[in-house]
Order: sequence, then C-alpha cells, then structure tokens
Amino acid sequence: MIGLPNKRELVQWLQTTDHRALSELFAAALEVKHRYFGHKVHLRGLIEFSNICRKNCYYCGLRRDNLSLRRYQMTADEIVECAQRAHMAGLGSIVLQAGERCDEAFVQFVEDAVRRLKRETNLGITLCLGEQTAETYRRWFDAGAHRYLLRIETSSPELYATIHPPDHSYSTRRACVFALREIGYQVGTGVMIGLPGQTAENLADDILFFDEMDVDMIGMGPYLRHAGTPLAASCTDYSVERQLRLGLVMIALTRLRLPDVNIAATMALLTLHPRGREMGLKAGANIIMPNITPTDYGQYYDLYEGRPYREEGFGELLEDLSRKVREVGEEVVFGEYGDSPHYFARMRCKGATTVRSVAPTSRRHAGVP
Ligand code: SAH
Ligand code: SF4
Repeated sequence: MIGLPNKRELVQWLQTTDHRALSELFAAALEVKHRYFGHKVHLRGLIEFSNICRKNCYYCGLRRDNLSLRRYQMTADEIVECAQRAHMAGLGSIVLQAGERCDEAFVQFVEDAVRRLKRETNLGITLCLGEQTAETYRRWFDAGAHRYLLRIETSSPELYATIHPPDHSYSTRRACVFALREIGYQVGTGVMIGLPGQTAENLADDILFFDEMDVDMIGMGPYLRHAGTPLAASCTDYSVERQLRLGLVMIALTRLRLPDVNIAATMALLTLHPRGREMGLKAGANIIMPNITPTDYGQYYDLYEGRPYREEGFGELLEDLSRKVREVGEEVVFGEYGDSPHYFARMRCKGATTVRSVAPTSRRHAGVP
C-alpha cells in the first residue's frame, strides 16, 4: 500500500528507475484519482493569443532577447471566434495564455476579451498571463475569469535565480500566487521538471510547496530545451527517457499528496512522447489542455523545441483525443467546467458564502445542436 508520501519518500520515489516499482506508484495514484474524480477527464482549450513578452527567462523561446522569433497578437475577434468553436464542440473551459505584458493597453484588451467571452459563450476561463498587480488580477476576475495559472517554475529561490535574469524575482512571483488566492481565483501553480541543476530534493520540495500553498490546480511538465536560449547550453545530462519518467513520477506523487486538486497532463509530455499525455492520465492527472490556437499563430508560440501545434481540424482533434483517452480507460467529459474540488473544500473551510459558480456551459450539454 502506498500512502501519503513524506519528504523522504518523495525523494526516494524521484530517484527510483525500477519499472515495476514505478508501475505500482502510478497505479496507486490512479486509484486516488478515481476516488476523487471517477474516470472523468476535463478539457481546457488552450488559446495562445500572443507570443510578445517583456521578460527574459533563460529557458524560454519567447524571451524578449530572442529576436529571430516572429511576434504576433490575435485580435479580440479571432479569440472569440476560436472560443466559440470550442464552445460549439462541447468544451466547457478555455485557457488564455500569452507572454507577459503589463501595459494598460494589454490589461484592457484582456479585460474586454474576457467580458465578451463570458457574455458570448459563458465558457469557464483560466488565465495564464504571468505576474501582474493585484489590481489587474482583480479587474480580470471581475470581468469573469475564474481560474489563474501561475507556475512558480521552481520552489527553490536559489535554483530560480539560476534560470532567470537578476531582475526576475522569486518573491514577487510567490506573492502573486497569494494575491490571486486572496481575490478568489481557483489558483494553479507548477514547476518545470528536470531543469539543469535541479535535484530530487528540489522536486520533493516543489510538491510540499504545492501543499503548503494550498493550491487548487497543478500545471507542470518536463523542461524542454530551446537552442536559442541561454539555459540550453548548460543542459548537459538531458535524456528524453529521464524527462518523461520524472514528469510522470511528479504527477503521481502530487496526486498522492494533494488528492483533490486538478492536475494537467501537459503539452510537454506530448512533446516527449506521442502518448505522453495519456501516460500522464494513467499516473493520476485528470485534465488535458488541447491546443486550439489557430495554426497560423500556434507555430510561433515557440516555448521549446518540437512543440506540436495543431494541424488537423477542430472536430478531428477532439475525436482523436477522446479516443486516445478512452483507450486508457478514462472518459473525456464535455459541457462541464470541471472545477477543482479542492477549491470548494477550501472555500467551505473559509466559511465563504459565495464562490464562483459552476454551471453546465455547452450547447451540446444543454441539448442545443
Ligand atoms: N508568460 C506566462 C505564461 C506563458 S509561459 C508565464 O511565464 O507565466 C507558460 C509556461 O511555459 C511557463 O510557466 C513555463 O513553465 C513554461 N515553459 C517556458 N519555457 C519552457 C521550456 N523550455 N520547457 C518547458 N516549459 C517551459
Ligand atoms: Fe515570457 Fe513566460 Fe516565456 Fe518567461 S516563461 S519568457 S514570462 S513567456
């Protein structure tokens, strides 16, 4: 029986390469996932609406010093059109993701887009737009966004300092996670796994950090190199097999430690292996974020090498995904937000009288063709 892992056990699991032992770990995590979520898998349609970024993270292809990248920003109409197609296809939620910008024009653009998306689709909206002031987070929340994903990247301030320029601050990022919670978002965080210089102990601490921060969602995935970035040069002991294993082990251990949070099987797993996301589900994840960014743009959202972007049509994408999920014994659920049960438990503990509501959203769900 594998129970709630403590720090020592987390470290041991992260050092294990034995296939049989790891199969047992994944099975235990999947059992916990089934207890809390049944066989359900919820989707979030990922719209990467701009690759313009003011930051310069050492690992990321969107960093501002990457001058060879063609930059884009989708219009509000294009975002809404993309979301409407997702809605018609039965998706319950979308994620709006972009490089980081804090200027008023951008803040207002997002606020208006969120308000319009809520009015025209009522989809659940997750934002993933980096570090902002509490006032900006509040404006976007009031406009109708109800989840926010801000990865801490690593919970170790020392490691954080080695993968960011000196003017990028760990403590600011951490404070942002608190601010988001205070405002009332369902809050997600996460880390990159298999970073140069990262130890098993660092990763164990990351899981304890998720627990301490009492977050509702986890979006984490293996670090992947991008040749045009400074970190790729210091990445010497990189192996696909190791990145994939660590990515799956982190999902399983996080599920065991934080049983009722939403955990995504992210695109980085798919980049490492064609069945990487399904492997993530078998290790305890319950969320998949299919990339629905229009192809013309998606190819320039160049976070890391080999990142797949959508080439097939919308319907095919969802059918293919549903089939692959069914093949591993799970079931994609349409027409629901799929909010984190942990959020509601947390809000009940706080004695909150109002929480951002969960409503069936899609036309398909409501019986409208
Ligand atoms: N700019 C926002 C959101 C877009 S970046 C932000 O930084 O929060 C979204 C995520 O992509 C980041 O949080 C980071 O964890 C991930 N990412 C960037 N470069 C990566 C790489 N080389 N390998 C794996 N993940 C990467
Ligand atoms: Fe910008 Fe986010 Fe990439 Fe950092 S990780 S360079 S903030 S897009």
